[in-house]
Amino acid sequence: MSGSLPIARDVQALRSAITAWRAAGLKVGLVPTMGALHEGHLSLVRTAKERCDWVIASLFVNPRQFAPHEDFERYPRDEAGDAALLAGAGCDLLYAPERSVMYPAGFATNVIVSDVSTPLEGEFRPHFFGGVATVVTKLLLQGLPDTAFFGEKDYQQLLVIKRMARDLDIPVAIQGCPTVREHDGLAMSSRNAYLSAAERNVAARLNHIMHDTIKAVRAGEPIAEAEAEATRHLIAAGFSSVDYVSIRDAETLAPIADLSAPTRILAAAWLGKTRLIDNMAV
Ligand code: AMP
Repeated sequence: MSGSLPIARDVQALRSAITAWRAAGLKVGLVPTMGALHEGHLSLVRTAKERCDWVIASLFVNPRQFAPHEDFERYPRDEAGDAALLAGAGCDLLYAPERSVMYPAGFATNVIVSDVSTPLEGEFRPHFFGGVATVVTKLLLQGLPDTAFFGEKDYQQLLVIKRMARDLDIPVAIQGCPTVREHDGLAMSSRNAYLSAAERNVAARLNHIMHDTIKAVRAGEPIAEAEAEATRHLIAAGFSSVDYVSIRDAETLAPIADLSAPTRILAAAWLGKTRLIDNMAV
């Protein structure tokens, strides 16, 4: 227990809680997280609580979605603080498995989603979606909730998880939820904690430059030119480098020639050692 929030540490404890709720005819929602919770995560918990009777949040910093040079070791961890925030948001159970529960010795399975995993994040973090799809498949099958809730903040991830659940006939509805932002427009992220005060000021420019880019393409600027201009503006604003600013088909993430179908702008840029991502509808 932590405060009033019960914690399940293994699959058996998770399943026995869910089985009891199901037997009582209750709908179960799951919010997967890596912890270091902020208002973005808590908004998912509140939405889940509106739509389901019982809400489980999972907390697992998934080693398989970090490359060896990435920030797995220094990723912020605060289980007790997270549990208190979750209890306050109406969460009913925290599922916090050990690494050996998720990946017992000899674990040899990878879930690879092709197609929508390939561009953008897939190009710059080739290990990432395999790690995400594998851990989310496990979380969904371990709990078999009615609905699992994911943020549009990680828009490509949401598309990958929807495709994976559909392709594998996993009987869990996947629900996307809007991005929660700071007052200056910066998308909330556990990684924002890495930013120095000076970097934090620059970080908000990402969202503003994406808005300007949307305005420009809506006014008729060719997409490739608007993307290149956004990259120049990000560097001028103080970003160290830009992985991509790209305007894509909102369903397939394929490059587009015009705005006739639903469209999304997606960006990833570095401030020092911190990588920020953001996206929005065009
Ligand atoms: P993470 O702990 O970063 O793996 O995120 C867990 C879940 O919270 C994912 O579904 C994210 O997309 C979602 N999330 C993270 N940041 C935000 C945000 N600012 N607004 C809405 N959802 C978010």
